[in-house]
Amino acid sequence: MIREIAPREGTAFRLNRGQRLTVIDPEGEQVSDLVAFNMQDVGEVISSGRSLDYASRLFLTTGDPLYSNRSNVMLRIVEDTVGRHDFLLTPCSADTFRIIYGDTSPHHGCFGNLTQALKPYNIGPDAIPVAFNIFMNVAIDGETGVLRVEPPRSKAGDQIIFIAEMDLIVGLTACSALQSNNYRFKPIHYLIT
Ligand SMILES: [Zn+2]
Repeated sequence: MIREIAPREGTAFRLNRGQRLTVIDPEGEQVSDLVAFNMQDVGEVISSGRSLDYASRLFLTTGDPLYSNRSNVMLRIVEDTVGRHDFLLTPCSADTFRIIYGDTSPHHGCFGNLTQALKPYNIGPDAIPVAFNIFMNVAIDGETGVLRVEPPRSKAGDQIIFIAEMDLIVGLTACSALQSNNYRFKPIHYLIT
């Protein structure tokens, strides 16, 4: 059964070892932030630093593992019709919108949505790591390191499939940042099989 995350919202769910998570961009150009925690010990969390270090690459795609802070593989990408995702930037938040966009009454962002969704699993806001930002397109100048958030390359119906390599609690959003989503907020679809 395909489930929908409404624009600017988020959810959390259990994903058992061996299950597949498919994340679909139904309309195109929509980012979805993913975080993951070990179901048995939520101190073990997805790690951008370790994953990028071991891949020796910034852009992860089919075949690449996503490691935890304890260097265990949490998820592996088994299919990817886009091939461009970000694993550098933190979930957008009220602070993001205040600092970068200058909003005076900012939306709570992916960070707020993840905080709410993960609360029933006893995971607090300070435990939320850098997310694997599905479909987020961050261009990087190799000389200066300047980052530029560009429209996602995903078209309607594009998808990425992960397989869980341990029992997980996963947080997932339909991203709330204007620039990341080419200035239009859209839903995200996902499927657990
Ligand atoms: Zn976001």
